[in-house]
Amino acid sequence: MKQQGVSVLGSTGSIGTTALRVIARQHDRFRVVALTAHSNAALLREQVRDHRPSYVGLVNCVDEQADGWNRGAECLVEAATRDDADIVLNAIVGAAGLDATLAALRAGKRVALANKETLVVAGELVAKAAAEGRGEIVPVDSEHSAILQCITGHDRAEVKRVILTASGGPFRGWSEDRLAAATVDDALHHPTWTMGRKITIDSATLANKALEVIEAHFLFGLPYDSIEVVVHPQSVVHSFVEFVDGSVVAQMSVPSMELPVLYALTHPERASDDGVPAFDPVALSPMTFEPVAQERFPAFRLGIDAGRRGGAAPAVFNAANEEAVSLFLAGSIEFADIPAAIESALKKLGGLPSESREDLLDADSKTRRHVRELFEC
Ligand code: NAD
Ligand code: MG
Repeated sequence: MKQQGVSVLGSTGSIGTTALRVIARQHDRFRVVALTAHSNAALLREQVRDHRPSYVGLVNCVDEQADGWNRGAECLVEAATRDDADIVLNAIVGAAGLDATLAALRAGKRVALANKETLVVAGELVAKAAAEGRGEIVPVDSEHSAILQCITGHDRAEVKRVILTASGGPFRGWSEDRLAAATVDDALHHPTWTMGRKITIDSATLANKALEVIEAHFLFGLPYDSIEVVVHPQSVVHSFVEFVDGSVVAQMSVPSMELPVLYALTHPERASDDGVPAFDPVALSPMTFEPVAQERFPAFRLGIDAGRRGGAAPAVFNAANEEAVSLFLAGSIEFADIPAAIESALKKLGGLPSESREDLLDADSKTRRHVRELFEC
């Protein structure tokens, strides 16, 4: 079997390091051809030693020792368009991953996409880039991987509805008063997943699930009325697909990102792998489901409304959330300020132009400025 080359963007993060473990186990099929990170030169150096890529990029490179490494944001696009890369695994966090996704799709690559913000900011442009370059997006997000696994082999017209599962995050069941006093440490304690800091906070506000509804809309071409969310605290069922005949198919596994990462590389095939713990329905019981407590997690509804509104609104939702989350993590604002910032930004800037990449990046930077001004940061 010919080895496929993989560029791993965001290799030092939670998904990036998971992906490198999966690729190392699957060395018959895949080899790493490029690695990029924002910072953390020490970990990147270890990864370079272990995987021997032909290209290395460190965006924020202050280390003079990093001879032969590429620097600055341009390295993301360079790594994403290399001839020796068949697959680009985009594990960058935030809108910073957009240009690399667009460039990879225009260059005809398979993009294994963890960076959901790409689709939220510019879903239509991403679809256009894929069509122009004959590129392909395969989701890494576990819910979207589940949907893809359930619908592969079926015509899209056979899908009636999808139901994304949500763990409910660390604050499931918390009262409004208790939520108002939630600290950064509280929010970083996710019950079922170990992830990067930004997505962990997004899981606490449920902004992550709104990002995922928008992601599902663009990935699978589904109207918002056909995308629902249910809370499933055990994170074993990763999503449901209801077909037009009423049959419901779900994908399950012990919570682990190794499986969706591997599937994004091999889809529609499956590769033999022993990275995911054995499935034992008795040990995983009981599996429970409950509605989303929308009134306590306003970021969820705000995000879905932004998706339905379309235009620049999803990009504004995303940028307001990114900026507010980084202020919250820095200790500059309260947990409840995150949805407040999103609401204010959408009201003021949700109708900005959205025709081009430049329009969307302009909306992104205006939104970030608005959020910082709101809190005088
Ligand atoms: P992380 O913070 O652990 O890692 C992010 C990576 O991106 C790091 O390598 C970092 O150096 C790099 N990066 C950060 N800012 C950058 C910038 N401006 N330019 C270039 N590189 C930059 O994040 P993560 O948890 O691995 O999440 C990555 C993406 O995957 C996010 O979009 C997240 O929503 C999505 N995702 C993550 C998980 C998970 O389990 N962690 C699950 C589903 C989806
Ligand atoms: Mg997810």
